[in-house]
Amino acid sequence: MKLETVLAQIGSMEEKQTGAVSYPVYYATAFRHPELGKSTGFDYSRTKSPTRAVLEDAIAKLECGDAGFACSSGMAALQIVFSAFSQGDHLIVSLDLYGGTYRLLEQVMSRFGLTASYVDINNLDEVERVRQASTKALLIETPTNPLMMMTDLEKVSSYAKEKGLLTIVDNTLLTPFYQRPIELGADIVVHSATKYLGGHNDVLAGLIVTKGKQLSEQIAFLHNSIGAVLGPQDSWLLMRGMKTLALRMERHQANALALAEYLGSHEAIEKIYYPGLPDHQGYDIQQKQASGNSGIFSFRVKDERYVAPILRSIQLIAFAESLGGVESLLTYPRVQTHADIPYEVRQQIGVDEKLLRISVGIEHIDDLIADLEQALAVAQAEIESL
Ligand SMILES: *Cc1c(COP(=O)(O)O)cnc(C)c1O
Repeated sequence: MKLETVLAQIGSMEEKQTGAVSYPVYYATAFRHPELGKSTGFDYSRTKSPTRAVLEDAIAKLECGDAGFACSSGMAALQIVFSAFSQGDHLIVSLDLYGGTYRLLEQVMSRFGLTASYVDINNLDEVERVRQASTKALLIETPTNPLMMMTDLEKVSSYAKEKGLLTIVDNTLLTPFYQRPIELGADIVVHSATKYLGGHNDVLAGLIVTKGKQLSEQIAFLHNSIGAVLGPQDSWLLMRGMKTLALRMERHQANALALAEYLGSHEAIEKIYYPGLPDHQGYDIQQKQASGNSGIFSFRVKDERYVAPILRSIQLIAFAESLGGVESLLTYPRVQTHADIPYEVRQQIGVDEKLLRISVGIEHIDDLIADLEQALAVAQAEIESL
């Protein structure tokens, strides 16, 4: 079956008793046992819960993995995955990483002896340079955010297999609708489902998908032991959002491409970072391994003094953190999503004073262009009058 069909039908055939097309929200935390040694498959809801189980099966199927795990947030999903490692282990991680993941590694996991090196993972010479005897895994975001750096997942995961390393991919930006890392050789996929999968800026959730029996059992053990699981109402909300993922992604992509082209020709803009544009450095990799682009791109304004008036003057587009929802959001990574990354690291990779990131929603493109047009005009007039 095609992904559009799997998505639209999530949970619609699971409720046998009444035939309910929308799977019910089961709040029960305890489940009655018929007799000693017998179980309905449910005992206590931290371990397994009916509504969550439907969601977990759906994401495992969508990502072509063997097991899915729904967690209380994207960060909780990452923490559960990091807990599979031990004191003294080392990870190699994408440069230009999501700020919260960087913070979890550097300020929390490091205290438990898990260390990380940050490099452009697509450059295997760089990866080899930082690889240690204790290196256990690669953690990849592709494209990265905000700079949209690309990693060739097939190339890098086959290198990882050769060296005995696990490949973990944070697939938040493209979702399984556009990119399926396990098909390309990854072992674990992680999501902040708060973003595109939920899609409406109204549910905080994380997902993990594993490939193989041993990894699936290990993550199931950690998911239950740590307990940062997703509640039934949020599981239902997330499935409800995912049913329209295909339609939303197609509109996000079309709007982002049109807006990137508009901004690319605007005199106040210096550079656009969007993998959907042929002049992007990772365009070929993106074409090869993904079937579409997200609604996220970054742009660099010519003068940092444009930033404040733009953020003040946008009316339809919200100045807000997060991404992947139906409403367009404009973010200033330097002070928001990437504030926890040290100044020197940010400057080195280009997350600087002039960089803005937009998560393009599903509004009409004419209204989005008009909003940025008027905000840029205000900014230009203010700078000229100085
Ligand atoms: C938002 C985000 C996270 C963290 O997820 P939460 O749901 O906010 O905890 C992790 N990775 C990426 C790429 C993200 O965008």
